[in-house]
Amino acid sequence: AKIKQVDFVKSSNRPKDCPRDERPEFAMLGRSNVGKSSLINSLVRKKEVALTSKKPGKTQLINHFLVNKSWYIVDLPGYGFANAPESARMDWSSFTKGYFLNRDTLVSVLLLVDASVPPQKIDLDCANWLGRNNIPMTFVFTKCDKAKGGKAKRLDENIKDFQQLIRESYRQHPPWIMTSSVTGLGRDELLLHMSQLRNY
Ligand code: GDP
Repeated sequence: AKIKQVDFVKSSNRPKDCPRDERPEFAMLGRSNVGKSSLINSLVRKKEVALTSKKPGKTQLINHFLVNKSWYIVDLPGYGFANAPESARMDWSSFTKGYFLNRDTLVSVLLLVDASVPPQKIDLDCANWLGRNNIPMTFVFTKCDKAKGGKAKRLDENIKDFQQLIRESYRQHPPWIMTSSVTGLGRDELLLHMSQLRNY
């Protein structure tokens, strides 16, 4: 499951501009500031590889990174900018939903959820939508290092509460992994998980 090589392939404005080879891909999705860039960088152990624009209102891009010349990590625009205008939010959803519903080579969506805060409506909405549309997915809980002392219990509760709240949208509960880009927690587990799904 080792990552030996990562090449940035392209940024696409529209789902139909994405690479057309048949290589399997994993899409990383989450609220802005969830720790997506940090996690991608920790996975590939290369700085500055995640290029997604962080400013709301800017052109939204789907970024394809080719790993070991055989599969893709796809960096999708973050959602839930606190101050984004309604129009930008609508753009996000039609743009990204088109990608999820039509991308045949998508093996799984990695939905990043900040474990250090209680379940957020926008994350629940997203998880429920993916579940109801039968999009294969994995929950990746981020910032799990933020759990020292008494906070550890709260972190477990956040994760449990989240899974409880989305339960009814899934026939089978999706796999989930706890991660931290600070300590490296979950990195190997996530790489192994992706390699198992690719070979399934
Ligand atoms: P993105 O907007 O989802 O790409 O988020 P970033 O990767 O830029 O991270 C947003 C903020 O969260 C930054 O201040 C990071 O330093 C912090 N952060 C990201 N991952 C972790 C983590 O695993 N643990 C902690 N404690 N902070 C994190």
